[in-house]
This record gives sequence, C-alpha cells and structure tokens, in this order.
Amino acid sequence: MAGVSGDQTIPSKSEEYSPTTDSAYCFICYLFSDKPNVRKGTDAFTVKGFNNWKKVNDGNNCAFLKHIGSSQHKGAVVSCENLLNQKAHIENVIEKRNAEDVLKNCIRLKASVDVIRWLTFQACAFRGNDETVDSKNRGNFIELLKLLASHNDEVANVVLHNAPFNSKFTSGDIQKEILSIIASKVRKHIRNEVGDSYFCVMVDEARDEAKREQMAIVIRFVDKDGIIR
Ligand SMILES: [Zn+2]
Repeated sequence: MAGVSGDQTIPSKSEEYSPTTDSAYCFICYLFSDKPNVRKGTDAFTVKGFNNWKKVNDGNNCAFLKHIGSSQHKGAVVSCENLLNQKAHIENVIEKRNAEDVLKNCIRLKASVDVIRWLTFQACAFRGNDETVDSKNRGNFIELLKLLASHNDEVANVVLHNAPFNSKFTSGDIQKEILSIIASKVRKHIRNEVGDSYFCVMVDEARDEAKREQMAIVIRFVDKDGIIR
C-alpha cells in the first residue's frame, strides 16, 4: 500500500463526528466492514451515521462502547491491522524471494566461472563422455564443480542437483558463453598491454584427433618496461 509508512498503527480513535448530519461514524468500520448491513442498525456507524445521543454516556450501555465491543468492529480492526502489517504484504515476500534468488544465482554463476577459468588456464577439456548423474566420471567441468561444492557448503547448497532445473549454469552453451566473455576480456587486456609498441604474430595450425583444425596464436611484443613478453 503506497504511502503508508512501516511503523503506522491503527488510529486509536476511530469515531468521526459530522457536524452537518450531527452524527457519529466509525472510520475503521466504514473502510473495512465486509458486511455492513447484516442486521438492522449495524450500518448506524458506517452508512446512516449514529445520532441517538441519549444512548451515549449511559454506563456500560453506551452505544460507542457497545459498538467497539461488537464483532463487526473487532473484525474491521483486524482487517485494518492486516493491511497495515507491511511485512506480510505480498510484494515484500516476492521481493525478499527475488533478493535470495539473485544471491544464489551469483554464487552459482561464480562457481561455474571459476571452474571454466581454471580448466582453460590448465588447457583441460571441459566435457566428459558420459555426464549423466550415474556416471563415475562426469567430465572435468562437473567433477571440478563437485570438488568445489564438497569444500564449501555455500556453493554446495546452490549448484548441480541443488540448482533449479532451468538455471544450473553447467550446459555446454553456458560454458561457451562464459568462455567467450573471458576470451574477449583477455584479448582486450593483451591489446592494452601491447599498446603502440612493435609486435609479431606467429600462427600455426594442426589437426586434432577429431580431425578439426586447431589454431595456436603466439604474440610477442615489448612491453612499456622494455621487456619481451
Ligand atoms: Zn467500528
């Protein structure tokens, strides 16, 4: 409910007086009473207005006291309290869930990025022949992720079988996507390091076991400290 601050409480005095009609109304019942016309006279404080003034200040029979003690008024007060209880509002529950999901996604993604960085730096293959859950060797990527998880509960709680089906961050497509982001970062870094100095490039190609061409690129340059890299 927009515009209502968190520490707002229900108004202690809910009766309102209208000088025009010389009648009293109950603000809370007016707003929250869900069945204002069930019995004769029960709409006195909401629709018609109460003006039977001789019934006021009549000890325990005071109409105001009787109204406050009525189940209709008490029900309205509960409804009012519920509406003002912001912690229970649906948008807060959803928002909290979202924040939690974002945090879990971050941890999950970071684990995958770390695994990919390590495997790439060590020139290891990512995938295994059999990556099914029952496989004894699910390939370097998943086995390394399992190792990370086994040493850290925070990671273990969000990766692999603890990850939602649609965002495990372990598919081949995701691996390639992360790898291509890393590759472009590395290229950018090398480009910055080379700057305007002289460089030479060596390129060699060879066929791998799957008869695919593999291209290796070596770049040599002198950095700004005069050292050959
Ligand atoms: Zn009331």
